[in-house]
Amino acid sequence: MGKDMHVIVCVKQVPDTTNVRINPETNTLMREGVESIMNPYDEFALEEALRLKDKHGARVSVISMGPPQADVVLREALARGADDGVLLTDRAFAGADTLATSYALTQAIRKINPAPDIVFFGKQAIDGDTAQVGPGVSELLNCSLVTYVQALSVEGDTFTVETHMDDGTDVIEGKLPVVMTVVKEASTPRFASLSGWMGAKQADIPKWGAADVRAEKEMIGLDGSPTKVVKIFAPPVKTGGVRMDGRAEPDAAVAAVVRALQDKGVVKS
Ligand code: FAD
Repeated sequence: MGKDMHVIVCVKQVPDTTNVRINPETNTLMREGVESIMNPYDEFALEEALRLKDKHGARVSVISMGPPQADVVLREALARGADDGVLLTDRAFAGADTLATSYALTQAIRKINPAPDIVFFGKQAIDGDTAQVGPGVSELLNCSLVTYVQALSVEGDTFTVETHMDDGTDVIEGKLPVVMTVVKEASTPRFASLSGWMGAKQADIPKWGAADVRAEKEMIGLDGSPTKVVKIFAPPVKTGGVRMDGRAEPDAAVAAVVRALQDKGVVKS
């Protein structure tokens, strides 16, 4: 495979959610003044791609769909070592749900290379949190999918991955091409070098709209989104509950706990 290997990484710009708050009156995210970052899981996906570049000389392309200023995350990826990047940006993409997002990204992938060896995604985006876009793209590309990847090796046209399961690790072998979603256990992402940043700042990042990727109007944006967000709200703050100290009078404390459970209908009177 060697020099001809081509991998594509989808990276999303997200608000730094440690700072995100919800407006209790409008139920919308308060994004003002909130820093935007590369989705942290996408850093791990990018690192896997860059390791394939280190080892096999793979070409690494990055794609993001978002507003014009989302080119920042692509430049960050270039600074770390990606070869080229494309920003999908068009008002026609606005309001996309996960299906419409998957379709738009798939059209861009097809334009970059109709047959890439691996398309990488983060496990999930930390704002949308659905973890649906990687699987959605694999379906549209009609390509195998491996999720929760924590280790990867490629020899010829065969890949071997370890996937991070709740109860252990699965080892999966398969043939390229494949779509993968990557977890944080995979690696420690590299930093960009100063010279990497200098090159990335000057890099030409094409901006593609719906027409550029031959996207059908009824498949993108609001028109292409069969699901709608009807409400967004912060979960109610949990109160501390009732504390009972049974050290002095254990029998009384036990009786009080039983009474409280009976009052709630958890145990019969
Ligand atoms: P996940 O599926 O959790 O992301 C997995 C991986 O996919 C990421 O790690 C990354 O590698 C890749 N990825 C995801 N999104 C992108 C991207 N844009 N570019 C590159 N790679 C990406 N958003 C709006 O801005 N306006 C709306 O009106 C709107 N309506 C929505 C309605 C519904 C019902 C839903 C569920 C979501 C809506 N969203 C909207 C959010 C938008 O659909 C999601 O941000 C987008 O589909 C990605 O889903 P996610 O964030 O859950 O990503």
